[in-house]
Amino acid sequence: MNEQTQQWLAWDRRHCWHPFTDQRAWCDPEFEPLMLVRGEGVWLWDSEGRRYFDGNSSIWTNIHGHAHPVLNAAAQEQLAQVAHTSYLGFANPRASELAARLCGFFPADTLTRVFFSDDGSTAVECAVKMALQYRMQTGAPERTRLVAFDNAYHGDTMGAASLGGVSLFFERFRKFGMPVSFVRDLSELRALDAGEIAAVIIEPLIQGVNQMRLWPAGMLRELREWCDATGVHLILDEVMTGFGRTGTMFACEREGVVPDFLCLAKGLTGGYLPLAATMTRETIHRAFEGPENVFYYGHSYTANPLGCAVALASLDVFSAEKVMERLPHRAEFFARILHEAFPRHLVRVCGMIAGIELRRADGSAFPAEEKTGARVCLAAREFGLLTRPIRDTIVLMPPLCATEEELVFAVEALKQAIIKHLS
Ligand SMILES: *Cc1c(COP(=O)(O)O)cnc(C)c1O
Repeated sequence: MNEQTQQWLAWDRRHCWHPFTDQRAWCDPEFEPLMLVRGEGVWLWDSEGRRYFDGNSSIWTNIHGHAHPVLNAAAQEQLAQVAHTSYLGFANPRASELAARLCGFFPADTLTRVFFSDDGSTAVECAVKMALQYRMQTGAPERTRLVAFDNAYHGDTMGAASLGGVSLFFERFRKFGMPVSFVRDLSELRALDAGEIAAVIIEPLIQGVNQMRLWPAGMLRELREWCDATGVHLILDEVMTGFGRTGTMFACEREGVVPDFLCLAKGLTGGYLPLAATMTRETIHRAFEGPENVFYYGHSYTANPLGCAVALASLDVFSAEKVMERLPHRAEFFARILHEAFPRHLVRVCGMIAGIELRRADGSAFPAEEKTGARVCLAAREFGLLTRPIRDTIVLMPPLCATEEELVFAVEALKQAIIKHLS
């Protein structure tokens, strides 16, 4: 290991605190964290000069690859103007244009307003606060309840965490959070008293953190119909699924559904900068007019011009590189090579999102304490692949720009890692 890497590692072990991480295991001298220093396309390089395929799009954010010339140029151009100005009391050109472009993806007079924040959790936080405040201002203060689905993941700030259905992450904070009813499916939802409910939140099509589990086809449509019939608002968390990841620009397009609140983040800037958007309808926005109805919420970096400039460039690349036109064919190829490579394991695919749930030769699951998923991902580094598991499900979520050749590389690397570790 070179001296520079050693120095960075020493500072990290001494001063840094990593997310979702057992700090004892992380700081163990036997464990050598990778220092990632450079990226280009689907590839990342560490401080020792080794190259890796970015197998989870840098935690589900990257869309067009790293160091994309168009996104880089947009960031540099904006930087030459100004990096940040306050959105509290001022507007900025990039945010104006981005809001208009985002609304343009949806049918006229549906999602017409964009509230910017910083990341997925805050996008959800905003939607929830808006949904609750809306009821107070429209004569339905008894609608105070929120509904979320079992095993859901909506982020880690207190409000977003209250909606999380993964007990390992969220159980210890339940007593501090908001009143939320959890349901497993639509039949459990229908059994609730809709008159008390302000909104229901769901990750459409696929629950990411729940080991990439897909909802049954038609479920989202049915949920929308139930919301229409009961007056409950529908919040869609497309923080992971947005921007092409599932094969359509937004997952809700698949079933022709438009939500009342749409939460976007991760892929919004192509994976470059933290920026989020909560989109909503004009009728909802109207209930917030007047001095007594202000939405008292905002962050210092709201609508950051650099983030907005790169988000606009990312949308430009979607058109210039015909990303969505190319995607169905690429996703089909991805699904095919995954099923071929992992016949014994449970492969779940949705667009460019894959979860490979590892199974023993007899088809049974591995005991959780063996940490098979984590060990396979560690082994995959030797074959030039970086990704993370969710329990024993290996996530492969390549940037949308990955070529067939690059996809083959990633799948082959994972296959070698599994062979090496499980034999
Ligand atoms: C990642 C994620 C979030 C949280 O986003 P952050 O940017 O990490 O706060 C919320 N919902 C879903 C579905 C996600 O995948």
